[in-house]
Amino acid sequence: MLRNTIQRARILAHLESVKNHPTAEELYDEIKKEMPAISIATVYRNLNLLAKQGKIHRIEMNNTSYFDANKCDHQHQVCMKCGKISDIFYKNITEYAMKKADSTDFTPKCVTVVYHGVCKSCR
Ligand SMILES: [Zn+2]
Ligand SMILES: [Zn+2]
Repeated sequence: MLRNTIQRARILAHLESVKNHPTAEELYDEIKKEMPAISIATVYRNLNLLAKQGKIHRIEMNNTSYFDANKCDHQHQVCMKCGKISDIFYKNITEYAMKKADSTDFTPKCVTVVYHGVCKSCR
């Protein structure tokens, strides 16, 4: 159990330290440099758990999951041609979307906005 906690903390710390949005496989390649005993299954399991706990954020695209530690304060721009994911910080979009969904039926905790478009180098 302790080992699990350490591995999970390490995965979270790694996600927090990177600016990109790695896949589970990319994370595994990085994590195993520090923890050679870790398995891809452990990485998947911990990513799912962290996502469930709301500590990380999963971006689904083209049947692939990309992970992000920086959850609810930003939006994403995804290039439809090269698949590049970039962070954008439009605070008022987050605030507006959160306020809009707040009702007696539902209390939003987080909102994600993904813009699909074409990036500068693919335009
Ligand atoms: Zn592009
Ligand atoms: Zn992001």
